[in-house]
Amino acid sequence: MDFTTTIIDWYLQNKRDLPWRRTRDPYLIWVSEIILQQTRVEQGLPYFIKITRAYPDIRSLAGAEEQELLKLWQGLGYYTRARNMLAASRVIMDRYQGVFPGDYASIRALKGIGDYTAAAIASIAFNVPHPVVDGNVLRLFSRFFGIDIPIDRSSVKKEIHDLAQSLIDPENPGDFNQAVMEFGARVCIPSNPDCNACCLSESCRAYKTGMVHLLPKRSEKQIVPDRTIHYLVISYQQGQESGLFMKQREERDIWHHLFDFPQYQEERERHPGSPIPLKSLKRWFSPHHPDFQGVTGPVKHKLTHQNLSVWFYRFHVNGKPRLPYQAVPFHELKFLPVPRLIDRYIRDLFIFAPGFLNFKMDDGPALSKKINPPLH
Ligand code: SF4
Repeated sequence: MDFTTTIIDWYLQNKRDLPWRRTRDPYLIWVSEIILQQTRVEQGLPYFIKITRAYPDIRSLAGAEEQELLKLWQGLGYYTRARNMLAASRVIMDRYQGVFPGDYASIRALKGIGDYTAAAIASIAFNVPHPVVDGNVLRLFSRFFGIDIPIDRSSVKKEIHDLAQSLIDPENPGDFNQAVMEFGARVCIPSNPDCNACCLSESCRAYKTGMVHLLPKRSEKQIVPDRTIHYLVISYQQGQESGLFMKQREERDIWHHLFDFPQYQEERERHPGSPIPLKSLKRWFSPHHPDFQGVTGPVKHKLTHQNLSVWFYRFHVNGKPRLPYQAVPFHELKFLPVPRLIDRYIRDLFIFAPGFLNFKMDDGPALSKKINPPLH
């Protein structure tokens, strides 16, 4: 059985009809590949459509406001992808006069583009025979060739990369790369692949030796640290204007450049969720008096490298204190790029405390079980 021919034939007969597969425009392929990093096709597709509608080419993306792009990206997570895409589009405008570079090294040098994405763009848009190696490909090759060494070791990744390089169809590298990705995502899936119906089974080492459920192997898992965040959710009302105080994240930390709420810095250990000592905040709000309205939490939120435990303390202030944060009227909140956790919290405020917030947001998923009634 010839691996290359078999898998390309399978791909041509079974590939999903997706907008980025109907084009060889490197810009569209690039956008799709960036979106699909860490994101499933079903989730990424609507984002691809709305982002390429807003920015149909490199020039329009390069001229975008970061905040607008982040707003379109909201909900996808890993916002660095969007910021890097914006930076790379500006480099393409400046250095390549708006023409996407066609060689692997130049593509790889663009911000936010790693080995995998560079190989995908180079092979699909420019016919460069450079193999893609992602989690799906590692799993497929580990099983097909019976590699029982942890696939997260760089030596194994290199071995699989070299195997793929030796198998890639030099005439048709884009289809080969898409075939191995698609096959890994849809047939040689992580649990219970349907090996009996698999077109590669007659030569698959794992299938023949009963090792399918044991491969691929991985090294011991890293422990993900816990982190607690205390947010101050401060609403204000001044004349006809009412809104929330928001803070743009500048730190090199999670959610860079997105907006969230001011954080209460713990001066000493205390029981999480116990009321924030109002005295310590009084000077801050002066001459206004904050009205403590309730606490929500802990809301659990998992990120790749951190498990968050988040508390939201709600305050209302009559007037508009001079705080070092951005006072955002309610009707403008929906234009701010915010992390998904904050977006859901704000939506819940509108749903469960309508008297507190005199403005309606669009419908959305709720954190309803986590919301405590206001403590007036
Ligand atoms: S036979 Fe099973 S393990 Fe082997 S490639 Fe096919 S789906 Fe994967």
